[in-house]
Amino acid sequence: MNEPSAANVDKMWAYARKYAEKSGTSLHPDRSVTETVVTGLARHIEQVGKPLCPCNFYPDPAAEAKQRRWICACDEMQKYKYCHCLLFVTPEGLPITEYLPEDHEGRQAYGVVTDPVPDKGRAMARVLDRHQAETSTGG
Ligand code: SF4
Repeated sequence: MNEPSAANVDKMWAYARKYAEKSGTSLHPDRSVTETVVTGLARHIEQVGKPLCPCNFYPDPAAEAKQRRWICACDEMQKYKYCHCLLFVTPEGLPITEYLPEDHEGRQAYGVVTDPVPDKGRAMARVLDRHQAETSTGG
């Protein structure tokens, strides 16, 4: 497999640091975990033009990129603050699972991992909550 360019790897490191800060998560305490994911994201930028999540298999990566749900930060991250790649985690290196549906595989694998910074992240969930509140008050 081709190695991505240093420029794209740097770009993804900068993105990861910035998004961790913005979402109230941490990068993994084991740097090699982050390095693997960052390299995978950079590789997808070169293959399909977007940082598709490197921890899934896609029969057609280009078609998947158009759907957007697995472009980092993916829908699961924006809704549940859950990163199954372990790129955005707690300071101890665990994925946050407290917002996941109970039958989600992340809950089954890790149990309930609470969010140490609940006032940040989950941008998509916050928008949906607001819409729901507006609908229920007729606004
Ligand atoms: S699981 Fe989501 S947030 Fe985590 S690396 Fe993959 S796309 Fe990004």
